Amino acid sequence: MPCPKDTRRLVDLGEYMTKQGGKTMYHRPVCVKCGVEMRPERNGVGILDMADYGPYQIWDADKYKCPECGYEIVVGFGCNAIAEHYQGHFSMAVE
Ligand SMILES: [Zn+2]
Repeated sequence: MPCPKDTRRLVDLGEYMTKQGGKTMYHRPVCVKCGVEMRPERNGVGILDMADYGPYQIWDADKYKCPECGYEIVVGFGCNAIAEHYQGHFSMAVE
């Protein structure tokens, strides 16, 4: 199996995650610089790993933004990719 390149882009998983079911919550990330809890900017965001031949894996994640300095991070990755390119529901999330 070819390794994915280090090219990633954010994908909107809002509708997709609703269909697949939710996930457990965790403590919000804290901005090191400001010492405040970051706010969820957009839940149900995904990281799409790209391979030579196209989309490879989708990782569920959350985007948080610091209300003070505006710094943005993406956290909350699970242990496994939520969709692989060979799975039937993969294209549903990518499209
Ligand atoms: Zn901050």
